[in-house]
Order: sequence, then C-alpha cells, then structure tokens
Amino acid sequence: MTGTPQRRLVVFSGSGISADSGLDTFRTSGGASLWARYDPQVVCNFDCWEKNFPLVHEFYSRRREELGKAEPNAAHILAVDWEKRFGAELITQNVDDLFERAGARYVMHVHGFLPALRCTSCGAQWLIGYRRFSPETDRCPKCGGLDSVKPNVVFFNEPAPRYGEMWRSLGNLTANDVLAVIGTSGMVLPIGQVARRSPATTILSNLQPAESPRDDDFDHAIHGRAAEIAPELDKLVTTLMER
Ligand SMILES: [Zn+2]
Repeated sequence: MTGTPQRRLVVFSGSGISADSGLDTFRTSGGASLWARYDPQVVCNFDCWEKNFPLVHEFYSRRREELGKAEPNAAHILAVDWEKRFGAELITQNVDDLFERAGARYVMHVHGFLPALRCTSCGAQWLIGYRRFSPETDRCPKCGGLDSVKPNVVFFNEPAPRYGEMWRSLGNLTANDVLAVIGTSGMVLPIGQVARRSPATTILSNLQPAESPRDDDFDHAIHGRAAEIAPELDKLVTTLMER
C-alpha cells in the first residue's frame, strides 16, 4: 500500500480522453465525423426524441458500432491503475465503456452509458452491447414498451440523475485530496470554476491550453494527447498522492 489512506483522488474526464481511441469528440468533430452528419439538437434532444425515433436509434446504433471497434488507450489504463493504487474515484462525462474495458471496478457515468437502453415508461435499464437497435428484438423486457425505449444516454433537456452524486464527490474534496481533470472542454460542466474553488490540489490535462477550462484555474496543467502524456501525468499524481 502506498500513500495516505484518507487522501482521495478524483479523476474527472471528458471526450478528449477517448479521442485517442478513435471516438469522435462531441464539440470538435471534423467533416467526416458522425457528429457532422447528424444534428445533435435532433438526435439527442429529450424534447423531440420520440418524434425522431428512427433517426435517434440509427445515430446511436452507429455510435455503438464505432465503440465496439475502439480500444482503451494509455490514459484509460492509467486512470484504472490509479483506481487500484489509490482508490481513485472515476467520474466521466463519456458514455463509452473504455474505462470498464481497461478493468475499472466502478465508473460514475454522469451522462449515461452507450451500451445500454432505458425504458422511459417503466424505468428499466438493460445492456444492448455494441449491437444495432432493432424494433423486433429490443422492446422493454419489463413492460413490453417499444416507443418508450431510449438509448441510456442523457440528452439535451433531460435531467441527469447522477449529478447529485457527482457534486457531492467534487464538493467534499479537502486540502488533502487531488482532483485530476482529463480531456474536457468545460463547456457542459463548469469544471474550471469547481477547480478554482476547490481546496484540493488540482491538475488539468487537455490537448492544448484553452479558454475553458483555463490553465490558471488549476494548480498544475499538462498538455498533449492524453495517451502520450500519461507517464508525466502519472509521475505528478503519484508524487501528490504519496506526499
Ligand atoms: Zn418498460
């Protein structure tokens, strides 16, 4: 065992950590990406998803197929190593299962989980894996509903059920703890403000310096492709955790 047992390490990640695994990032998509061909306001909008049912499922079927071909990268593997060494709490905005496939025991998915479906009528949730959605085989196993079957991903205008748990985890950080933010633009959640106000030692690791979140909101900033800077990031986190 290494480090002080009471010292917490919270790892908060976004799409940048999975970009090196070939998954499209939501806000910086290139011309050929899935996000460029579908309008997020149509395919991930809770207010109109039922009206666009076939298109919504087509989009998420493609994303699951894409995920089935992706592999965890060095940054996912590093975070899971921290879970083993320091009991790191993994909080992610990502809906992919790359931490799980790298061996994570528990991941808090605050924006849902792509390999699963959810019934908006009865609340049932179940795994579909990387398969395409089919109206023939993917009715709700509990109530038999079909029109109510939705990807288990938090859409725009939809409540995010894990936010309470996430804010408790971030809000309970003390001066003894470490918060590592990896691969997130801070556009959806104001993680820069969280870091600035947090008594914990904070680390930002993004592709490059940006307006949001800003480097000076954090105690340390390390930039570069998530998979490439993993050794440097590991050294810093290990030093802080073993103080
Ligand atoms: Zn149901």
